[in-house]
Amino acid sequence: MTALNTIPAYSRPLISHLSKLGIHSVPALLLHLPLRYIDETHITAVRDLRVGESAQLEGEIVHAELSYKPRKALIARLEDASGQLTLRFLHFYPSQIAALKVGNKLRVYGEVRSGFFGYEMVHPSCKAVGETTLVAETLTPVYPTVAGLTQASLRKAIALAFKQNVSAETLPAHVYQALNLPSLASSLQALHNPAAGADLSALANKSTPHWRRLAFDELLAQQLSMRKHYARRRRVDAPQFPPSKQLVSALLKGLPFALTQAQQKVALEIERDLSLAHPMQRLLQGDVGSGKTIVACMAALQAIESGWQVALMAPTEILAEQHYQKMQGWLAPLAIEIAWLTGSQLKKERDLALQAISSGRAQLVLGTHALFQEAVQFKQLGLAIIDEQHRFGVQQRLALRQKGQPEPHQLMMSATPIPRTLSMSYYADLDVSVIDELPPGRTPIVTKLVSDARRDEILQRVRESCAQGHQAYWVCPLIEESEALQLVTAQDTYALMQAIFPELSIGLLHGRLKPAEKQAVMTEFSAGRIQLLVATTVVEVGVDVANANLMVIEHAERMGLSQLHQLRGRVGRGAAKSTCILLYQKKLSDLASARLKAIYESNDGFAIAQADLNLRGPGEFLGLRQSGVPMLKIADLNRDADLLLHAKKLADNLLKDCPSAVEQHLNLWLGAADEWVKV
Ligand code: ADP
Ligand code: MG
Repeated sequence: MTALNTIPAYSRPLISHLSKLGIHSVPALLLHLPLRYIDETHITAVRDLRVGESAQLEGEIVHAELSYKPRKALIARLEDASGQLTLRFLHFYPSQIAALKVGNKLRVYGEVRSGFFGYEMVHPSCKAVGETTLVAETLTPVYPTVAGLTQASLRKAIALAFKQNVSAETLPAHVYQALNLPSLASSLQALHNPAAGADLSALANKSTPHWRRLAFDELLAQQLSMRKHYARRRRVDAPQFPPSKQLVSALLKGLPFALTQAQQKVALEIERDLSLAHPMQRLLQGDVGSGKTIVACMAALQAIESGWQVALMAPTEILAEQHYQKMQGWLAPLAIEIAWLTGSQLKKERDLALQAISSGRAQLVLGTHALFQEAVQFKQLGLAIIDEQHRFGVQQRLALRQKGQPEPHQLMMSATPIPRTLSMSYYADLDVSVIDELPPGRTPIVTKLVSDARRDEILQRVRESCAQGHQAYWVCPLIEESEALQLVTAQDTYALMQAIFPELSIGLLHGRLKPAEKQAVMTEFSAGRIQLLVATTVVEVGVDVANANLMVIEHAERMGLSQLHQLRGRVGRGAAKSTCILLYQKKLSDLASARLKAIYESNDGFAIAQADLNLRGPGEFLGLRQSGVPMLKIADLNRDADLLLHAKKLADNLLKDCPSAVEQHLNLWLGAADEWVKV
């Protein structure tokens, strides 16, 4: 890498500004691509302006004033041969007042609006013109920048980078030519200095061949780095667990159901991984209710039978507790010792658990993120299972992995199915198993969209359903701004429901309850002694009560798609027909109605996840912004799905045949982007 501080032409302040952008080398500077472009290649006449478009004009200032009402503003009128345009500044410097004096000739660029006196521009950029000022020959790039670094200095810095003659190309020509992509050098030229007349909209939506080349390279870098992680893992040691001879078959014998085909398939994949000498990192995907827990339990028994410990981590206490109940039921007959850890435990109880874990007496350890705290020492952790993995950050998953020596196997489970493009890119370092079938005997859930105005009918519906011996959930609205307010809403709803349904036994479940209280409510609900459960979105994750077959979600328009799908998955777990009613308040935003439409039209977790991804983009979808996984800056998984396929294939080929190209490519891209973390 050619470091900028070895090139005298880059001044110290410039280098310091660039480093704030994460740019330290010439190639990194070349990869600092424009956010957008402006067209200063021609001059538009006032007569030809169009509202909403950006344009460059040239003319003379014919009027200028400082106005103080309604607020301080600098207002000027610019005149050309065809008409006049108002220029308006709400913040300005004395130098701007001077520049906008009557009689001055200016060239301005900005977005055209319709103002009180005809066309106007707010805060246009202005340049004085002399007789000889030329128009730009290429479109003007606008770059991401930091305070103190002007666009002009950035452009100069990049122009200088082009002069350093570093070869940016990392791929053999036949490789990119076969994909109909241009060379990297010509792509960088074209993106930093697009020719006049280049298609602005194709540039803006990154569909030009040059943008595609960059998107491809970025995807390739991502694939290469993920595949390298993957390969590295294959060289690390892990304990080997031969397939279980007794415990798993004893477990299966005791179950009231047979595994589905899909469960058998993924169980085999996991069984095989655990018998190998390097750590498994497998993501087990399966829609809500597809039966992931039993598969995890089988994996646990394989490790336990070999004499190793297993940790199972869940994101909420309710869910951890529920796993505990379920595992007790399954494993107590097999005389497996289970320990239990949460943040809110009494000290005495906790110390006992910690002791059981460190002595190795506890074979299976269940809990929340309390599991990876420092005090928790396993005797020998062989397998870490993480339920609802998308609820945990990368760091938390790593922390659990570090609890074992050698590195334990890892099984991650997720009910938020990950669309294929995402699992191919962000999860390319994991192996993925999919349960693509629900256990038999489930009746599909009927989803209804009902305006809040018809709330009375819905209340009637709840009454009837409970009278028939079923149970129902009433989910309170999500209040993003304030958890306190959310609590108040839940309590109010609870009081209201008690007033409306004096004949029903009603429970309240929210995040602020003490764990023991939560557990008491859940036990009552599971046992059928609570008929109507008023709850916040804490019931979203994992709660499993088969007799509950009606769910009403208030203000469904405020909730995310995956969240709605998860919530809805709490019903439809038994044989009875289930209904989920989404109450919404008019008037819906476009995004909210797109979400409600998607959830109404599909019960298929994958289709919903895809819709969610389309609506929110990968960062929000995966919660990557918090989790520290690198984001794609250029490529878009939807737009560039074809490139992703090619990048994946090429990555495999290069790793096999051309290690030097791999190194070059990763050097360029990982060196360029500070934020590609090493997981
Ligand atoms: P999830 O994949 O959402 O975690 P669970 O593991 O909680 O789903 O399973 C949902 C319910 O289905 C549980 O009550 C579980 O015992 C039951 N179940 C799992 N596998 C089967 C099966 N093959 N046949 C019938 N019921 C099953
Ligand atoms: Mg589950």
